[in-house]
Amino acid sequence: MNRLVYVLDDDPVSADICATILRSLHCRAQVYQNVEELLQTVHSHPPDIVFLDELTPGVNGLDISRRIREDFGLATVKLVVMEKRRAGKIMVSASDVIADARLEKPFGHDQVQTLLSQLSHSKAEVRFWGVRGSIAAPGTAHDRYGGNTSCVTIRLALDEYIVFDAGTGIREFGNYLIRLGLPVRLHLLITHAHWDHIQGLPFFRPGYLAQNVLEIYGPNQPEVKFERVIADQMKNTYFPVPLETMQAQLHFHTLSDGEYEVGGHQVQTMHLNHPGSTIGYRVTIRGKSMCYVCDNEITEDNPEFKLRLQEFIGKADLVVADAQYIPSDFPEKLGWGHSKYTDVVDTALAANVRRLVLTHHDPDRSDDALDTIVRDARRSIAERSNGRAVEMQCMAAMEGTTLYL
Ligand SMILES: [Zn+2]
Repeated sequence: MNRLVYVLDDDPVSADICATILRSLHCRAQVYQNVEELLQTVHSHPPDIVFLDELTPGVNGLDISRRIREDFGLATVKLVVMEKRRAGKIMVSASDVIADARLEKPFGHDQVQTLLSQLSHSKAEVRFWGVRGSIAAPGTAHDRYGGNTSCVTIRLALDEYIVFDAGTGIREFGNYLIRLGLPVRLHLLITHAHWDHIQGLPFFRPGYLAQNVLEIYGPNQPEVKFERVIADQMKNTYFPVPLETMQAQLHFHTLSDGEYEVGGHQVQTMHLNHPGSTIGYRVTIRGKSMCYVCDNEITEDNPEFKLRLQEFIGKADLVVADAQYIPSDFPEKLGWGHSKYTDVVDTALAANVRRLVLTHHDPDRSDDALDTIVRDARRSIAERSNGRAVEMQCMAAMEGTTLYL
């Protein structure tokens, strides 16, 4: 390996710990406490990676990124932003938008090793912007997991993303792209047109900039074409400006069950069990697959559908699935189009999924109640993992968090 890594951190103890860990991982690490000194050395001796402490005085990640990548023409230098959790939550900061990876302080050997492996394999970053189902639900009981409705992104490149759903979470993703300042190409994969999956689009600022391209994919509804559904929510009865106000290039694509190419990557689709026409997605990027299965009801009385779903998500590296309900919500919520987390866990286990992320949290589910669901799901998975080489990982989707594919 022997990669050259520069560490910028004005706290000498913290910088030294980071450099020591990097050296133990066979990197050549050099520490800097001053931005200009760092940049001069980057210019004369380009490194493989720069670790930036975002709290060091004078550090502005965007400026540093532009100087390195544009002024010096060093497009391949990776930037890692070291950040601290604030108020229990990682916030999206200015320097965050240009980072190839983030490292939460305090960190140890294992976290750095994982991160170096992610960088060397160019793993795609998956980020959660909205995890709530049905309706946005802000409030102190939801502070940790977040109150915005569905939106998850995969970063294909610094300026190209796949975006699953355009719930209220897409608004903050839009602000993130505005801070990035680059023209972007976005592939929006919309599951269906219920409010919690499209309502953020009118507030998506990159949509109003001519420099951007939005390829918008989704299913027709029984009586309305997909494009009309998106446009109609911006009629003046509902919103002050129409869809035509958006200056970005908008291209609509109607999907049904099948196989497509999106941004050069394979995308498979399958109609889900939800009122109206709803599509689930399976995206394969550099040999790794992610399924986004939201909204969807898994029931015992439809074994044929359950089996098809199991095949659709089979052996996926990451499955993000609607798990809005708990067993006691039934039978009241039978037919509402959402799954019990217990059924989602069963199906994912049967499908040999590697990582399962439960999402579309009920608007009335508190952070503590979600913790209980995760604990129970993990216990159930552990009990049934005898004989498996690797146990399926399970977590609940949380706004602002990232995973790597
Ligand atoms: Zn929904």
